[in-house]
Amino acid sequence: MGSSVIPGAFDAHFHLNPGEHGKEAVKRYKASGGSGINLVNLPDYSIGYSDYYERRYEVTIQLADMARQSGLKVSVTLGPYPLDYFFWEKGGFNAKQMMLHGVELAAKYCRENRASALGEVGRPHFPVEYRVTEDSNEIIERCMQLSREIGCAVVLHTEDLDPTGLEGIHTMIIRAGPNPRKVVKHHASPEFNRICPEISRSILASRDNVRNAIRENIWNFMLESDYVDDPAKPDKVIPPDSVPKRAIMIREQYKNHEEIFASVFQELPEYVFSVQI
Ligand SMILES: [Zn+2]
Repeated sequence: MGSSVIPGAFDAHFHLNPGEHGKEAVKRYKASGGSGINLVNLPDYSIGYSDYYERRYEVTIQLADMARQSGLKVSVTLGPYPLDYFFWEKGGFNAKQMMLHGVELAAKYCRENRASALGEVGRPHFPVEYRVTEDSNEIIERCMQLSREIGCAVVLHTEDLDPTGLEGIHTMIIRAGPNPRKVVKHHASPEFNRICPEISRSILASRDNVRNAIRENIWNFMLESDYVDDPAKPDKVIPPDSVPKRAIMIREQYKNHEEIFASVFQELPEYVFSVQI
């Protein structure tokens, strides 16, 4: 799309690992018309416990530099993954305390403008004991407080949220005080885009999801592949070029594609992730 005023695709939730596989994914993304990604920190429990977040965040920062050198606009999201809880528990640590340390460290990167969001933080996406939910909610609220203080975004990984679930997040937002538009529900269901609409969404870029989200006619969403860059699970969650491919679909099928592009691939990503598209 280069010289056109229409922005290229922006993938709001993209992961990378060191190595050739990740470089290939970036190439494939760019070749399909992608111009920017929000790169989200990945857990790696094989590296052991000592300085876990320190080491993981540095890996993600280096991968962001790699993607920038390949010509992409990149924002960075750092934080403790919800399932880190079980990793810490298994090692005999106080999980909440370790994850809160991960949050404060990520906030430091945000203060230094080396990252623009805390995430993906939240709750395990499957049923867990009450105390895990309680601790996870405390971690979410701390992230929201930091978002209020620093102005960084919060990318939420949770169980699928129905209207009641969204109201619950909204209640936490009221309590902790972040700008709700800076809070992004990752893996959101487009049919609920009108529930608590001030919360931003990032929606898995399947064809159906994109059509459903556009049909809601409310521009509070971005698109994501949630690409995990795992050679053992190629093209998961969906292939790395999914968002650029949906961009082509939008251009071909919607008369108002310029309005859609401006919101989904430029205005909202710029606002949420402070990235210049
Ligand atoms: Zn993810």
